[in-house]
Amino acid sequence: MMVVPLIPIEENNGFGAQWLRPLLEANYFIPCRDHGEEMSKSESKYFCLDCMGKSICSYCLIHHREHRIVQIRRSNYHNVIRVNEVQKHVDISGVQHYVINNAEIVFLNERPQLRHGKRVTNTCEICGRTLLGSFRFCSLSCKAKKMMHVVEKAMESVEKLSKAMM
Ligand SMILES: [Zn+2]
Ligand SMILES: [Zn+2]
Ligand SMILES: [Zn+2]
Repeated sequence: MMVVPLIPIEENNGFGAQWLRPLLEANYFIPCRDHGEEMSKSESKYFCLDCMGKSICSYCLIHHREHRIVQIRRSNYHNVIRVNEVQKHVDISGVQHYVINNAEIVFLNERPQLRHGKRVTNTCEICGRTLLGSFRFCSLSCKAKKMMHVVEKAMESVEKLSKAMM
């Protein structure tokens, strides 16, 4: 008997990308484990989508020459990634873009917001953060969570269906 996955987890399949969770959960801007002594350029601010391990530093890049690398940047202590770098690899539609230092970026993770502005018309579907324009999510992480909910719901209904058929 062949068991086929219900939701194919393939690359370029939107948020089914396997490296997404490791990318969002990795620690950045810490000294590299392998190159910590060289200090100056050993901040871990890159992530290899092929190895999906820890964040890596500029000295590590030589070992990932043929791999897909993205660079994480910082804005007010939050991790961000450039839109033109990340959208080659994953569908980020619906995620709020911001312009920082003349570059369009998206935030990796949600940021706590203390209070809403007075006339809030549009908020993140997951964390409720105020959004501009017609975006649906404040960050990659919130979009990923939404996709997970959708997948879980689909799994549940398949489970119910298969129970009903037994
Ligand atoms: Zn390194
Ligand atoms: Zn690699
Ligand atoms: Zn959010």
